Amino acid sequence: MLALVVALQAPPAAAAPDTAAVTAIRAGMVIDGTGAAPLKNAVILIKGERIAAIGANVPIPPGAGVIDLSGFTVLPGFIDAHVHLASRTLGDGDWQHAGLTMMPAELALLGAAHAQQTLEAGFTTVRDVGSVHYGDIALRNAITAGWVPGPRIVAAGILFGITGGHCDETDGLAPGVLGHEAGIEEGVADGVDAVRAAVRTMVKNGADVIKICATGGVLSLTDSVGAQQYSEEEMRAVVETARGLARRVAAHAHGTEGIKAAVRAGVTSIEHGTLLDSEAVALMVQHGTWLVPTLMAGDQAMQLVNAGRLPAPIAAKARAIVPRVQSSFRLALRAGVKIALGTDAGVFQHGKNAHEFTLMVRYGMTPMQSIQAGTLSAATLLGREADVGSLAAGKYADIVAVKGDPLQDITALEHVDFVMKGGAVFKRDGQIVGRSDAGVP
Ligand SMILES: [Zn+2]
Repeated sequence: MLALVVALQAPPAAAAPDTAAVTAIRAGMVIDGTGAAPLKNAVILIKGERIAAIGANVPIPPGAGVIDLSGFTVLPGFIDAHVHLASRTLGDGDWQHAGLTMMPAELALLGAAHAQQTLEAGFTTVRDVGSVHYGDIALRNAITAGWVPGPRIVAAGILFGITGGHCDETDGLAPGVLGHEAGIEEGVADGVDAVRAAVRTMVKNGADVIKICATGGVLSLTDSVGAQQYSEEEMRAVVETARGLARRVAAHAHGTEGIKAAVRAGVTSIEHGTLLDSEAVALMVQHGTWLVPTLMAGDQAMQLVNAGRLPAPIAAKARAIVPRVQSSFRLALRAGVKIALGTDAGVFQHGKNAHEFTLMVRYGMTPMQSIQAGTLSAATLLGREADVGSLAAGKYADIVAVKGDPLQDITALEHVDFVMKGGAVFKRDGQIVGRSDAGVP
């Protein structure tokens, strides 16, 4: 109550003195996300939610709170451009049809738990590329309001595609079981008019980005994984409508022809991109299309296949295409395709996301390239590079710290000791210290 009284008695904002508390971080080594050489013994000054200054010679003002990370490597908060927070994790319960068997509120609560796991792992921003029932949008709003802790979310709302396609929530169910034809609520939109309406519906309901299924998928029962699903004409309609409403389009795409059609249609990113060829990567370079390779998803799918935990049709599809993940990634990397880190978390347990850095290095990136992919590059794909993605004055103070030197051993990023989001410490010495109810009215 005292805080409220003080706030009511405070002078108008324009006349208020600049009293935001200043925090100084002493960093042993800084990797700033831009790809620049690391900075030793730097100071980061934080005022309110944002970084005020960073550098080796920045003086610490008297009275500033000091956080000593001089024994750590300090980096921007990580960014995962492909997660599914408000969904049942693969292999858990009725994960295939959770949207039809669970209450929307249950999925949103599960999403809140996943969001906290993600933030604990040092991921301060994610792009959630789709959920049923708009769970990702609800979660984004709850986190923004301070009701629950979690990363900043760029949300897609409901992901959609053709009838019987990878995004069709009723895939594998008996005909007529809904009592009506599957529509946008079940992730289905067929034809140019319907996809235009679907984009508008997503934007109306709060989507920051549009997610479509351009081709078949692995984790759906009936579709053929390599097959193109949306026509190029339908995808052009999606992109044009989204662009008119200032939204970008992410396209789930495994099969080669579907990838090329999506790129020609103007999507911003190809998700997975499993069956690339030289023409596909050349087209991506020409169009400036991003690749979000989701290496962990392939890894996890094969682990579950080998453990006998996936239905036979899905296991067969995984066996057919997962061996191509690594060669396609190398092809894109060599060709100079823009690559952003994205994991498909939800296919595996949330909070393990940083293993993607390790796989990117294992498959050919330098450690610095992988760090850029998971910081400034991912921020740029999301259109949020003015606010997040690197350690620079003016950006949000989204900061993580790890022991050791990730440029020598990239797996250091899998063990995050310190997490700050928007100037508030969430994790310190490996322990959660951020209050989960800090913003609850
Ligand atoms: Zn996905």
